[in-house]
Amino acid sequence: MPAPRTVPVTGWGRTAPTAARLIRPRSYEEAAEAVRTCGARGGIARGLGRAYGDAAQNAGGAVLDMTGLDRIHAIDADTGTLLCDAGVSLHRLMEVLLPLGWFVPVTPGTRYVTVGGAIGADIHGKNHHVSGSFSRHVLSFELLTADGGVHSVGRGTPLFDATCGGMGLTGVILTVTLQLQPVETALMSVDTERAADLDDLLARLSATDHRYRYSVAWIDLLARGVSLGRAVLTRGDHAPLDALPAGSRARRRPLAFRTTRLPAPPPVLPEGLLTRRTVGWFNELWYRKAPRARMGELQPLAAFFHPLDGVPHWNRIYGRGGFVQYQFVVGYGHEDALRRIVARISERRCPSFLAVLKRFGDADPGWLSFPLPGWTLALDIPAGLPGLAAFLDELDEEVAAAGGRVYLAKDSRLRPDLLAAMYPRLDDFRDLRARLDPHGVFVSDLARRLAL
Ligand SMILES: Cc1cc2nc3c(=O)[nH]c(=O)nc-3n(C[C@H](O)[C@H](O)[C@H](O)COP(=O)(O)OP(=O)(O)OC[C@H]3O[C@@H](n4cnc5c(N)ncnc54)[C@H](O)[C@@H]3O)c2cc1C
Repeated sequence: MPAPRTVPVTGWGRTAPTAARLIRPRSYEEAAEAVRTCGARGGIARGLGRAYGDAAQNAGGAVLDMTGLDRIHAIDADTGTLLCDAGVSLHRLMEVLLPLGWFVPVTPGTRYVTVGGAIGADIHGKNHHVSGSFSRHVLSFELLTADGGVHSVGRGTPLFDATCGGMGLTGVILTVTLQLQPVETALMSVDTERAADLDDLLARLSATDHRYRYSVAWIDLLARGVSLGRAVLTRGDHAPLDALPAGSRARRRPLAFRTTRLPAPPPVLPEGLLTRRTVGWFNELWYRKAPRARMGELQPLAAFFHPLDGVPHWNRIYGRGGFVQYQFVVGYGHEDALRRIVARISERRCPSFLAVLKRFGDADPGWLSFPLPGWTLALDIPAGLPGLAAFLDELDEEVAAAGGRVYLAKDSRLRPDLLAAMYPRLDDFRDLRARLDPHGVFVSDLARRLAL
């Protein structure tokens, strides 16, 4: 194994970099050796670093970059089961699986995440209301624990439930067996419609979301007055083969995985590019250019699920200070809290152009898994916005009072005292960790900040 380098490590939001020894194991034995020798400041697994905050960094300790362990071991093309290393990306899986007629069961808004990161954060996609989170499709995994042993972990066990959403703190996932989703084509059939305001949006989502496997609403958080919460809904499902026009290129190669990639923005962009005014223009344009209603449009998978992946390093547009992604969920029945929060964000004039609202279905078994049945809103905010910390603290209190929670994979600033109210299984998680890892081998900046 090459000698580890000490480098600054950040999350996707590029706030709060901390220095750590970056180790890239190329075998399970090297991973075990890295865990055994990670030293007093411990270690944490890292995938592709798409968690926005400090979940995959570890100041003064070791960070295990797991992307060197990225083999696909076996695919059963009849049953759609896959055995792969945890460091393989969802992008790679799509390249390999789509031609075989299979797709990942859950994908987040970027396909540049690893399977290990998907389990660590127990990620959700646009299909949570139908399919639940990623771990609901995980059949088992192999976990390297603090004692250097490797455990086969199956569904329905405490270690499974603590690891799914456990932010890498129970150990290093080495391999995963996953149940896949069958598809006939690599295209989506998409319905788009506009909602005039927040109530209109919630009504449309409540009334018709069950008809769609995938659903998401882009929401204009700078709109005010009668337009507060106006949105563009895009919902759809995998297009069946007979939906593709006869004789078309798509019909001839229905399972071809097509992606586009634009040039990356320059490494340093002028500060102040994203002002309320520029974002306000962008939002206005985005809303107006969306059709009032368009049904059955065929879109490539990548355009529907991962529009931002077409722009490498798009996170640089927020300038040197980086950005915070704030994502929370409040349960059904707490729509008033959601309305108040949306109104406060709009009043605060946060220049946020990547805000999305989704409906979650049933909660998942992971003890620190984020989704609960309700409404989730995610928005990006430049980290340098004056007064941001105090403002988000106030929103956290509103979320907690409504029985909701913020998403740890996006977090870089939550106060620890609110955590137990947001995650009722926190004590179980802490107890299991204390037994499994009594010397605190697995630790991250997130874990120290929130006393996980
Ligand atoms: C543009 C964009 C859109 C996104 N959209 C969504 C979305 O729609 N839904 C959603 O849920 N999330 C979303 N995310 C967040 C992202 O899916 C999660 O943060 C995911 O965990 C990132 O995976 P990663 O491989 O980059 O892991 P990292 O960011 O490197 O690590 C994330 C966590 O997983 C742990 N981990 C990583 N590998 C392992 C392993 N082998 N064993 C044990 N633990 C491990 C780490 O310790 C850390 O706690 C989005 C992120 C971006 C940048």
